[in-house]
Formats: sequence, structure tokens, C-alpha cells
Amino acid sequence: MKPLQELTRPNIWSLAPYSSARNEYAGKTAHVFLDANENPYNAPYNRYPDPLQEELKKTISKIKGVPSANIFLGNGSDEAIDLPYRCFCQPGIDNVVAIEPTYGMYKVCADINDIEYRPVLLDEHYQFTAESLLARCDNHSKLIWICSPNNPTGNNLSYEEIVKTLEQFQGIVIVDEAYSDFSRQKSLRSELSKYPNLIVLNTMSKAWGCAAIRLGMAFASQDIISLFNKVKYPYNVNQLTQEKALEALNNQMEVEKWVSVILQERGRLMEAFRLLPICEAVYPSDANFFLARMTDAQAIYDYLVDQGIIVRNRTRIQLCKNCLRVTIGTRSENSELVGALRQYK
Ligand SMILES: *Cc1c(COP(=O)(O)O)cnc(C)c1O
Repeated sequence: MKPLQELTRPNIWSLAPYSSARNEYAGKTAHVFLDANENPYNAPYNRYPDPLQEELKKTISKIKGVPSANIFLGNGSDEAIDLPYRCFCQPGIDNVVAIEPTYGMYKVCADINDIEYRPVLLDEHYQFTAESLLARCDNHSKLIWICSPNNPTGNNLSYEEIVKTLEQFQGIVIVDEAYSDFSRQKSLRSELSKYPNLIVLNTMSKAWGCAAIRLGMAFASQDIISLFNKVKYPYNVNQLTQEKALEALNNQMEVEKWVSVILQERGRLMEAFRLLPICEAVYPSDANFFLARMTDAQAIYDYLVDQGIIVRNRTRIQLCKNCLRVTIGTRSENSELVGALRQYK
């Protein structure tokens, strides 16, 4: 890895961040707060929330096995996807490399930030090699995006190739593990101390059942986390979200139950798809969704919409011709989907 300063935009490296009223007195005990122009009434929501979400990070630290200093929390993973561009990539000059197909936000954020996005096609098993990604890198390549389990393909990417990428790339490798709670593959979180160029993303939006509260996580070296903290909006995670997230995290048993039911349903739904005459292939999944190649994805998608059932039509995505991406729902939702597809003519 190049020195972090060399990878960082000069304006960000030298940035003096906004200093909030609450930052400045930090550490002392106080009981009269007349520093932030808040309204003294309507407690507790009259007060600005903790800008660094210390209490929430303590809980996440225990669950994820990563020290608080190595955790960034954001307004969904979306924020943690945008920040590496803003910290490391010079608009109009730098570029990033990513597997293809994958999650659409990596490219959207590249386009917004005016950063060249270099997609590298997966093979027919939806796998990649470090070599193929590195072959697309040059001296202006700052980030490599890897998503495992990958969206929309559903499979884990090769752990060995991810490690090889981390070892050989001079820039930063971001591994999005949004679906890792559904997978048996070892999380890259445990390798953080070994790879200073690694950022791992997790989210409350999938297994934790909290898409509405918008809480995403990034795990990385303290130096990268410090850069993110400097650039983020001061109060990027609101008080209601911090409270709800703590509540959810204290309910881990329930989440484990959800995951196990979803995985069981995934097996049942994938088997039902395999038996459908209109389904040509069901791809292996390590997530809470799977990809199925159909005889005519567009027509079947339209038919399902008419029945009030929405799946994701991925037919126009590279390597996903005639594919539908199906999220695992409740048992009765899944049965309704299969019932409708059996009636399809
Ligand atoms: C759903 C998803 C996320 C979650 O994004 P949030 O902004 O945290 O809701 C992140 N990455 C991938 C690949 C996803 O599919």
C-alpha cells in the first residue's frame, strides 16, 4: 500500500474539520448546557446527538469484534460508499476498479464525484481473480470495490482472491459484506490489523431488519476512520437511529432466528424455482436472495407485477440476461410467488 497521505486528496489531508460545541468541552462532566443554541425544552430530542456515536459503537464493537476506534457509522452504507471517493479520489483525475456486475451505488457515487469507474467482468461462475482487477489499475487507481456475497449474483467471492487483491493493490480495497450475516464465509473484519488498506462495509439494512433507520458501518484502520470522521456531516447519525439501532443490537437472538428461517425458506424457494418449467437455472446463493434465469424475464416480471408481486428484473445487467433477482420473504409470501409462477402461461 502507498502511504495513506499519498492516497488522500491534499485538501482532505489538510482539512480542519468542523468543531461542534459538544466536541470542545469533551471529557468533563457538566450539567448546564448553554453552548449549542439548543432549546432547553423538549428533552431529550432538543439536544444534538453524539457526533461519534460512542455508546452505539461500544455495542457494535462487542458484536463485530472490532475496537470502537476502527468503526465508522453512517447514514446507511450509502454514506460509507460515498466517503472513500470524497477522501481519496481527485475528480477528473483518479479512477476506481470494481467487479461487474455488482451493487449499483459504487458507480453512481463515482459518477457524482466525477471519478472514472472501471468495471471488470466476472467469469461465468460469477467469480473474479485479483490479477484481472489489478490489470485494470494504474497509478491513478485509488479504490477497488468488491462485494461478497455479491449483489445481484448472490454468491461469495473467492476469499483467496480477495486476500491477494489486498496484498498486491497499492490503493484501498473496499469489501462490502452487506449480506455476510447470511453467509458462512469468514468476514474480512478479522483481517483488519493485517491489511491497512482494507475497508469492510456492513449494514443494519438486511439481516438486522432495519433498512428504515439508515445505519451503515465501515471497519478500517484508525487512520482511515479518522479521515471519514473529518469529512462526514457532524451529526450524520441522528438520535432516533442511534436509539433504535441499540435496541435492535440488544435483540441479537431474534436476528439469528430470522436469519435461520430465511435460510430455510431460501432452500425451499430455490428448489421450487428449479422445478418450474419457465426457470432455466437457479444460481447458488450465500445471501437472502437468489438469481434465477428464466425463459423470458421481462414477460414474467410484468406478469408478476400484474399479480401485485414485485421481484427485481436484472435482464439488462451484464451476465444476467433473463435473470430475476428474488428476495426471500415470509413463508406465505414465498408460497404466493411460487403459486403465481406455476399459473404463468
Ligand atoms: C442493500 C445493500 C447495502 C445496504 O445499503 P444501506 O445504505 O446500508 O441500506 C449495501 N451494499 C450492498 C451490496 C447492498 O446490496
